[in-house]
Amino acid sequence: MHTCPILIGGEWRELSGVPTAPVYNPSLGKLIAETPLGGADLVDEAAKAAHAAYPGWWQTPAVDRIQVLFRYKALLEANAEDLAVLISTEHGKTLTEARGDIRRGIQMVEYACGMPALLMGETLENVARGIDCEAVRQPLGVCAGITPFNFPAMVPLWMFPVSLACGNTFILKPSEKVPLTAIRLIQLLQDAGLPPGVMNLIHGGRDAVDAILTHPLIKAISFVGSTPVARHVFNVGTSHGKRVQSAGGAKNFILIMPDAPVTETVRALTEAAFGCAGERCMAGSTAITVGDAASKVIPELVAVANAMRVGPTFSNPDMQMGPVITAEHRDRVVRLVNEGEKQGAKVVADGRGLRVDGAPDGFFVGPTILDHVSSENVVMTEEIFGPVLSVMRMDDLDAAIEMANRSAYGNGAAIFTSSGKAAREFKHRIRAGMVGINVGVPAAMAFFPFSGWNESFFGDLHMQGREAVAFFTQQKVTTTRWFAPNEGDIWHR
Ligand code: NAD
Repeated sequence: MHTCPILIGGEWRELSGVPTAPVYNPSLGKLIAETPLGGADLVDEAAKAAHAAYPGWWQTPAVDRIQVLFRYKALLEANAEDLAVLISTEHGKTLTEARGDIRRGIQMVEYACGMPALLMGETLENVARGIDCEAVRQPLGVCAGITPFNFPAMVPLWMFPVSLACGNTFILKPSEKVPLTAIRLIQLLQDAGLPPGVMNLIHGGRDAVDAILTHPLIKAISFVGSTPVARHVFNVGTSHGKRVQSAGGAKNFILIMPDAPVTETVRALTEAAFGCAGERCMAGSTAITVGDAASKVIPELVAVANAMRVGPTFSNPDMQMGPVITAEHRDRVVRLVNEGEKQGAKVVADGRGLRVDGAPDGFFVGPTILDHVSSENVVMTEEIFGPVLSVMRMDDLDAAIEMANRSAYGNGAAIFTSSGKAAREFKHRIRAGMVGINVGVPAAMAFFPFSGWNESFFGDLHMQGREAVAFFTQQKVTTTRWFAPNEGDIWHR
C-alpha cells in the first residue's frame, strides 16, 4: 500500500483520524492506497501557511522564481518514466498516454519559465503633457487548485506552475481517486528548491472543496471536473469574492464528410473516442456522419475497435486501451449503453462484459460503438466518460452543424473533410472553443487558452496561455507627474 501524505508549510505528514477514500489500481481492481479526507481545519491550516509564505515569495524577483521552475522541469524530465508508471498504476491509462499526460504538463512548466517576459507591463508617455502612465501585473496572494482524476499530472500542472511564477502561493487539492501522482509532482517541486509554504498539498473531497470556496485568505480558485461541480465551485467561490476559473464536462462532436479520407479518419476517430478509455474532456464521443460517409467509415471503425488490445496497462507497454477508473464508473458506462440500446441505438461494437485474461477484477469496458443514435437518446444527452462512441447520421453539413450546436457543452469539435469550404464553414459556425480540422483531439497546447465554451467552462479567463497569466495576476495602473525643484528657475535660467 502507498501512503498519502500532505504538505503544509514545508512539512510532509500523514493525516489520521479522518475518513478515507479508496485508491485502486483499476487494471487489477486492487486497493493500493487510502486517501485521507481532510476538511475545513486542514484547509484553514494550509491557507494560513500559504498566506505566511506569500510576502517572501512575492518579493522574490520573477527571474529568481523561475529558476525553481527550470530545475523542476529537469526533475520532471528525469523522473518522467517513473511518473508514467505511477499514473498508469493509479489511473489505468496506457503508458504511452501517461507519457503524454506528463509531456503536456511539462509544457506548462516550460511556458511558466518565460514568466518575466509574460509579466511585462505597458506604458504610455504623455497621456497628458508631462504625465506618463504604466500598468504592471502583481500576484493575487493565496490561490487554490482542485483537480479531477482523468489527467493526474497535466491538470494540476495547468495551474500551479503559472500561479507560482506569477508570485502567488498555492494549495493543491487533487482528486481523491489519484492522489499518488500529485504527491510525487509536489515532492519533485520541493526538491527543485521551493521555499516552505509556497506550495501546499492537501487531500480531501467535498468538505475540503467547500472550505476552499469560502476561506477568506484564498483569493483565486482553479477548478477542473464535472459540470455540476464546476458550476457549484464557480457560484459559491465568486459569491465569496474570489476569482474563479472552472472547467466542466463535455460532449465533443466529430463531423465526417463524404469526402473525408477514410483510413486517416478512422485512425483519428479511434484515438479520439477510445484514447484514455474515453475518460477525456476532449474525447470525440459523438460522430456525425454526413451523406454516405457512414457506409465508408463505420465498418472499418468497427473492425479496428474490435481488434484493440485492452488490458492491464501499467505493466504492459503494448496495451492500446486500459480500464476505467472504478467499478462504479464501469457499471455506469454499461448502464448508459444498455439504456441507449433500449432507446433505439444499434450496438455495432460491444465492449460490455469484457473479461481480460489475467485481470479478472479489472474495471474494463471494451470499445463500444452505438449507431443510428437519435438526438434524444441518453447517450447523447449524458457525458458518458467511457470508451463509447455514438454515431448519428445526417443528410448535409448544415444539419450536422445545427445538431452539434444543440449541445449544452462546447469544449471541442472536429471535422474530417477534403473540402476547404466545408472546413471553413464548420470552423466559423461551430459553437465550441477548440476546433479540429482533420484533427480528432484538438486540445489546445500550453501557450493557447484551453478554451471551453457553454457548460464546459464557467468564468472569463481560461487555463493555459496568456489568459492564465491574466487570471493569476491583477493589474496596477500608475499615473505619474514629476515636478522639478524650483521648476520655473531651471527652465528660465
Ligand atoms: P468530479 O467533478 O467528480 O471531481 C473533480 C474534483 O471535485 C475532485 O477534486 C473532487 O474531489 C471534487 N468534488 C467531487 N464532487 C464534489 C462535490 N459534490 N462538491 C465539491 N467538490 C467535489 O470530476 P472527476 O470525475 O474527477 O473528473 C471527470 C470530469 O472532469 C469529467 O466531467 C470531465 O469532462 C471533466 N474534465 C474537464 C476538463 C476541461 O478542461 N473542461 C478537463 C479534464 C476533466
